[in-house]
Amino acid sequence: MTPSPHITRPDRHLALPERERRNGHRGGILWLTGLSASGKSTLAAGLERRLFDARWQVLMLDGDDVRHGLCADLGFSPGDRAENIRRVGEAALLMAKGGTLVVAAFISPYRADRDRIRAQAGGMFHEIHLAADLAVCERRDPKGLYARARAGGIAEFTGISAPYEPPLAPELVVETGHSPVADCLEALVRYAGTAFAIDGGA
Ligand code: ADP
Repeated sequence: MTPSPHITRPDRHLALPERERRNGHRGGILWLTGLSASGKSTLAAGLERRLFDARWQVLMLDGDDVRHGLCADLGFSPGDRAENIRRVGEAALLMAKGGTLVVAAFISPYRADRDRIRAQAGGMFHEIHLAADLAVCERRDPKGLYARARAGGIAEFTGISAPYEPPLAPELVVETGHSPVADCLEALVRYAGTAFAIDGGA
């Protein structure tokens, strides 16, 4: 049955600009990519804390978290990694469209997987390369993963037995191999303020 032409639908949708005005910042995705031990979790957690304390609507998404649930069925083959990043990208985009600033911390080694999110998210996707090189990451090895991978205990480990494709044109590069954590964090807070704040910085 066709509804009467005199009946109009109420607009139930809470539009993004309204959420953004209240939050004081735009929704979006700050996508941190880099080798294992390049500092993604450390800096994402620090950035989430700083922005939360500044009353931002912010949520960190971390590779280790999603692999316990949303992506628990996936391994580390190129196909599974692509699917992992696809799911995370979709989830992040839903949240971003709801006004949240998502801080995503994922090795995401394949350029094509990251570019797919960028193509879908348009201006909401900001790619940040944490550019610590392999030697530095391997020296740090906070979880002992490089040692295990070198000993043959982990197959398809990024940087050792699987590739990492650095971004070609990221919005920001943070030299996490050379600079102290505090300086890198400042650079990220500054970037978030410039790129996402509506009135003033973080
Ligand atoms: P990832 O999430 O990329 O695997 P983590 O954040 O778990 O990396 O580990 C990075 C390690 O490197 C931590 O032990 C951290 O204290 C150390 N680190 C040293 N310098 C930096 C820096 N500039 N930025 C981030 N982490 C750093």
